[in-house]
Amino acid sequence: MEWFETFFSQLNQEDPAVYRLARQEAHRLGHTLDLIAAESLPSTSILLAQGSPFAVKAAEGYPDARFHAGCGYVDALETLAIDRAKTLFGAEHANVQPHSGVLANLAVYFSALRPRDRILSMKLSHGGHLSHGDRASMTGSCFEVKHYGVNFETERIDYEEVEKLAREFKPKMIVAGASSYPRVIDYERFAAIARDVGAYLMVDMAHIAGLVSGHAIPSPVTVSDFVTFTTYKTLLGGRGGVILCKQKYASQVDKSVFPGCQGTPAINMVAAKAVCFGRALKGDFPRIQKQICANAAALGKGLEERGYRLVTGGTDNHLILVDLRDKNLSGDVAESVLESVGIITNRNVIPSQGENPRHPSGLRLGTTALTVRGMKETEMGGIAELIDTALTRHDEPLTLKRAAGKVTELCQEFPVPWAV
Ligand SMILES: *Cc1c(COP(=O)(O)O)cnc(C)c1O
Repeated sequence: MEWFETFFSQLNQEDPAVYRLARQEAHRLGHTLDLIAAESLPSTSILLAQGSPFAVKAAEGYPDARFHAGCGYVDALETLAIDRAKTLFGAEHANVQPHSGVLANLAVYFSALRPRDRILSMKLSHGGHLSHGDRASMTGSCFEVKHYGVNFETERIDYEEVEKLAREFKPKMIVAGASSYPRVIDYERFAAIARDVGAYLMVDMAHIAGLVSGHAIPSPVTVSDFVTFTTYKTLLGGRGGVILCKQKYASQVDKSVFPGCQGTPAINMVAAKAVCFGRALKGDFPRIQKQICANAAALGKGLEERGYRLVTGGTDNHLILVDLRDKNLSGDVAESVLESVGIITNRNVIPSQGENPRHPSGLRLGTTALTVRGMKETEMGGIAELIDTALTRHDEPLTLKRAAGKVTELCQEFPVPWAV
């Protein structure tokens, strides 16, 4: 409360409408449980870096090679962010300018491929991402794309299929990485397949970069040509994208980001990236990341004990995908029932549902933000029970009201530091 007033009272004087909305949003964040797998809870320092005077500077180019004067401090800052990223992930080269994960992917594609070249990537409905050549994305119209998926029995990536498709289709790039895949990916296997057919390997670790940096799951960095990620998911930073690559691709990647895909970098977001990497390099970061995974496993176990089926039967990372088909509930109804008691989630397709079902039957749950708030396995058990109560008794207003009360209690016990 105090923090919010200190920093935002000026905004209140100048623009009460925006101030009021920002305050309401801070209140919402502090009074709900965020189980969106693609979000986290950034620290006050991350928010301050984003709002810092670095928001002002136009700085086209790279450190010591800018197209604007006055970039001395900006150069030092960007160099610091690059060095920290390289140390954190053991990478040969890092570009910290991409405005987002999608732009990082675009920049890699255009650094290594020409329009109409072939990409083999994971199907969106099986857990892939729009920017991996889906038809709705411009990446799908720039390149010829084929998708691999998961095996319907195991619901895990079918590496035999990836290998077969790679041999038939002869892609110039293979993309590994996903948005709603709860299992570890075998990067060595992908690298061997890519080598076999002479393709580049790009790994998009947007969701799991924090887990990788904290050694909670294996890293794709040494076996990949290119790795992209966002800083605002498990890495606990602000918004934005990053590219890591081998030194031999450094200059083509940098040119592809600027001037290829972007103009001026958002130096305030680069500042937040530096803070984010600095935090991740501290000794206790691996413990937080391992707790995120332990919490996801505990939440999944709590739901399984109450009769819910998890896609792949569990999780290795920060997320679980719950199949609601035998509960006679669609994902969209479940999402809004849970929101009504203060539990924020998102609906998701189940791989075996096929593409674009009218009502996706899955619910994707992630434990990043709750873990940052200090919750552990015990709380996950309690949240599984709250979710089950709300979903199975959603036509009992009194029960929902009681569940909402429990959510409020948890929020008070595990507060968001900067919420009101
Ligand atoms: C979240 C995500 C991105 C998206 O990044 P934006 O910052 O939203 O552009 C890219 N790839 C994958 C696999 C993601 O999960």
